[in-house]
This record gives sequence, C-alpha cells and structure tokens, in this order.
Amino acid sequence: MNEVSSPKSRLSIHEMLSWGADQLARSGIDSPRLDARLLMSHIMGESPFGLIAQTSRELTERDAGRFMELIGLRAKRVPAHYLTGWREFYSRRFFVNESVLIPRPETEVLVEEVLRLFKDGFPPVVVDAGTGSGVIAVTLALEANSRVYALDVSRQALEVARKNAFFHGVADRVELIAGPFPGCLNDLGLHGRIDLLVSNPPYIATGEIARLMPEVALYEPRIALDGGSDGLSFYRLMADAFGKGLLRAGGVVAVEVGAGQAGAVMEMFRLAGLSGLRTVQDYSGYERVVLGFWQGCGMSREL
Ligand code: GLN
Repeated sequence: MNEVSSPKSRLSIHEMLSWGADQLARSGIDSPRLDARLLMSHIMGESPFGLIAQTSRELTERDAGRFMELIGLRAKRVPAHYLTGWREFYSRRFFVNESVLIPRPETEVLVEEVLRLFKDGFPPVVVDAGTGSGVIAVTLALEANSRVYALDVSRQALEVARKNAFFHGVADRVELIAGPFPGCLNDLGLHGRIDLLVSNPPYIATGEIARLMPEVALYEPRIALDGGSDGLSFYRLMADAFGKGLLRAGGVVAVEVGAGQAGAVMEMFRLAGLSGLRTVQDYSGYERVVLGFWQGCGMSREL
C-alpha cells in the first residue's frame, strides 16, 4: 500500500506532479496535490506558484529520481515539512527536522496574544520553556526586540533552535539553555525573577499518541508530544514551580493547551496562586491559550 510504482521515464513537471499526487492519494494522504507540489517546488528551488509557469518543462533524471524518493517517503507518512526541512511560522521560515515538533498555526495565537499584552515593551526576563525549534523564542525576539531564555531538555532540538536564531539574526538575543524545567532556571539564578513565561509544552496523554495521525505518532518526537498519563504533567510541574515563587511579582504566564484542557489547567494555576486567569480561543474555536499572573505581594495587573 505504501510502495509507490515508478512513472515512465522523462516526464514533464506536470506529469510528474500528477503521478506524485496519485501515489499520495492512494496512500491516504489528505492533501496529495498540495504535498506533491510542495515536494516538487522543494526540489526545483521554486515556490509552488513559480512552478505553475513551467509545468511543461521536462525534469532531469536526477530531479525525477529525487522527487520519486520524496514521494515514496511521504507515502510512508513522513511529514512533508520534515522532507522539505522547513515550516512557516508567523510568516517566517523555520528549519525543522525530526528532533523537533513541526510548528503549528495554533501556536501563533499564543505568540499574538503575548505580543498584544506587551505591546508597550517587553520585560527583561522572558522564558520559553520547551522551545523545540525555537519558533516562539525567535518570533518574540524579532517582533518585540526582546531577549529570551529558550529552554529545552533535548540538545538536538536546541541545535535546531540555534540554527533558527542565527538564520533570523537574533542569536545574540535568544539564550539557549539545555536542561529541565524548572531546575535549570533555578541554577541560572532566575528563580523569582521571571517576568514572562511562555510555553507550548507536550500535552498529549501518553495513551492517545498512538491514535494520532501517523505523521505525528510515527515521526514527530515523542518527547515533544507526551504529556504523561493525562497529558497535564507539564502544567502540574509549572503550577508547582509558580507556587514556589518562580515568577516575579506581576510576572505573566502564557501557555498553549490541548483541546479540552483549559479548564483543568486554569484550576491548577489558580490553586498555585495565579490571578487574572483567562483563555484565548484558536481559529477553530478551541480554548488554546491560558494566561495568568503571579500577584506576589500585592502586584496587580490587567491581562
Ligand atoms: N515551542 C515549540 C513549538 O511551539 C515546541 C513545542 C513542543 O515541542 N511541545 O512548536
């Protein structure tokens, strides 16, 4: 089922595209034409729209071979973005590989809300916990001209984040930190000094992972997905750290949550002592972001 059959030799881009789309459709890929076009444009170094102008051109044998190889991998459900090596986030290109979660559009809602909240200027100590490819940290560094501590336990992920920070010219403002949350923040002397903590932590319940689409279940890093038996273990860890005074008085928390998790996360954060808790919906109407702040000794604020 996942094996692709070879096209006849010396085909035009157009013919190869329809062959590829056909192979992907047979393998049950949702958007076979779009993906075939994405992979072809990756090989040809053209935008998918640029391709339209030259679809009657013949492919060289080498390019045809590469295209067939990529179609074969996509048919095995390797995500298209791992094959092209990048994904767009907040209108910018970010490198991705199998060590990092592919950035999702929902995460842009988190970034947008944080930028709105701090439109008059970013505070000095901003932390992105579980930075992965670094999309949140790099976007905040760019959009808000801010300095961000970007934390991850995966050194391979931090390598990707480093590449992205360099590529976007903010390597001097994104401080990459290898280690677990919240321990290494304490080690860095940031305990009690954090003005803004953002995070898109792993939030899928362990038992649910196998039921996700194969692209996610088989190829995205488990460490970036697995939120423990109920999916909430990272929010629990955060709540515990907030309760112990991780944030500065008035410090803000903004986290992404899975569909249906907002209520439980808000309750945890409320019990840990956060105030002003509220949610933001994503474009599908799910409560996707939870925000709150640490009042400390009387520091109040509008969220
Ligand atoms: N912060 C990264 C993102 O939003 C990685 C998140 C993760 O791996 N859970 O895409």
